[in-house]
Amino acid sequence: MKKILLAALFVGSFGFAAQSSAKSVKPTKAQRAQQELMQKACERGLSSINRASSEAIIGFLASDALEGREAGYNTSIIAGEYMVSQLIEAGLEPLDGSYRHRFSAYQAASTRRPGNRWEVNADSIAKLQQGPHRRMDMMNVFGVIPGEIQDEYVIVGAHRDHWGLDPWKVGDQIYNGADDNASGVSCALQIARAFKASGMKPRRTVIFAFWDGEEKGTLGSTYFTQTWPQIKQVKGYLNFDMEGGNTQPDNPPYFAYIYSQENPAFGEWIKNDVEKYNLGLDPSVRPTENLLGGSDQGNFVKLGIPFIWYHTDWTPYYHQVTDEPEHINWDKLVDITKASYLNAWNLANEENY
Ligand SMILES: [Zn+2]
Repeated sequence: MKKILLAALFVGSFGFAAQSSAKSVKPTKAQRAQQELMQKACERGLSSINRASSEAIIGFLASDALEGREAGYNTSIIAGEYMVSQLIEAGLEPLDGSYRHRFSAYQAASTRRPGNRWEVNADSIAKLQQGPHRRMDMMNVFGVIPGEIQDEYVIVGAHRDHWGLDPWKVGDQIYNGADDNASGVSCALQIARAFKASGMKPRRTVIFAFWDGEEKGTLGSTYFTQTWPQIKQVKGYLNFDMEGGNTQPDNPPYFAYIYSQENPAFGEWIKNDVEKYNLGLDPSVRPTENLLGGSDQGNFVKLGIPFIWYHTDWTPYYHQVTDEPEHINWDKLVDITKASYLNAWNLANEENY
């Protein structure tokens, strides 16, 4: 990681470096040894990321047996239980005593036709409970890798729910959601395994989140960001939503790399890592301000938390029953997993960004 660490230090702590004269900051022998150790650990994790794991994770979650993992249905819970078992096997710890964080959303039921917003906020729920209402029970799943600094957090998140099954549709009825968002789940889960494979304790505590209810209005991440007591100590959020699409047939390695513009280091990280590790990626690097919509990152943006979102844009299979594993660009997905693991490593270990 040495090269990356130095590059990130220069860019990420630009103000600090400028003040203390970057030229005079020469690492000591002990610091260099530590950097080499970290680089080796990081690359050990990197080499654990592989296509067979991506195929296995997406193959299960996007199988017809999972019936499209719709929030509020048992199939999303089964997908959640799969995440729990994978996190336990990888050696991650529960968050605040549990891998399973259950919550409910409420909706007005004044007509038979559903369509009103689902609410997870306690005040909104109290109001809805005074009239006819619906309740939907959901479950976020979390796994934790404790860091040296226990009370500074980085969150790596992907929603695992999708659009379920349409029992009245003629023909294929299952919205498999391979790209949206089994692909993102495969990234986050492999990053968790890679952190463990590195054998090194991160500087900050890293939380892996598998949100429920994103498709019905980012309900899982809304509930979490509104209720988790330590939310103010979150230093960065890495979001995954749709990572395997081929949206530019002439340029398969294309994807969008969207990040908070207050953190120019994030833009440098991806450029350096693609080059250094020879990744088959052509990122469209997009610093943005206030990106509230689109996916779970919006709830972190509201709180001013730095974020990065990997996204391969919208394919013709988006929200269709044809969003199946056969359309995934596996080479790109694996390299996105590697690049984003390096981001997560930096988010967890860099002092500033
Ligand atoms: Zn999605």
